[in-house]
Amino acid sequence: MIVVLRLGHRIDRDKRITTHVALVARAFGADVILITTKDEKIKKNIQAVCKRFGGNFQIQTGVDPKKTIKSWTGSIVHLTMYGEELEKAVSRLDATRDLLVIVGAEKVPPYYYQVANFNISVGNQPHSEVAALALFLDRFTKATWQKKEFHGNIQIVPWVNGKKVLSKEKT
Ligand code: SAM
Repeated sequence: MIVVLRLGHRIDRDKRITTHVALVARAFGADVILITTKDEKIKKNIQAVCKRFGGNFQIQTGVDPKKTIKSWTGSIVHLTMYGEELEKAVSRLDATRDLLVIVGAEKVPPYYYQVANFNISVGNQPHSEVAALALFLDRFTKATWQKKEFHGNIQIVPWVNGKKVLSKEKT
């Protein structure tokens, strides 16, 4: 199981970014996103996507991060530009264990650097939690996220020219 823990979401400023973190988590192979700030709007938006596009992705908001970490029995990865090199760290991660992947928004307190089994950088330049999570999940899953079936009411068929969509939704 892969769980993403999103820290420090500010409802007014970060709603689009956190929505994108959740969408990337879902599409790139994670099972759950935990958001520390209570935000019913994001929860409803993501649940609506899951209802239409399928899968069993779960979202919880208003989660206590320290409680989550204390009760976590798998590995903990914290994505940060200060961390060790992506490829080297992923090769040492046990893919059979549950994984908690922490991403920040504002400055991340030292506690998270200390509790993480791996602080991992996706390059050492500042960029975005969306990009960092996408690249990390791609490497960690060895790109197998692309093969995941979602069995949604809406299915998009790759097509060379225009849109091909199979829909079971009532119109
Ligand atoms: N200034 C903040 C700090 O010092 O912790 C980071 C803010 S950054 C906009 C938000 C999040 O994006 C970070 O907490 C981290 O999870 C992720 N991030 C940004 N650049 C990254 C990189 N090069 N490698 C890994 N994660 C990165």
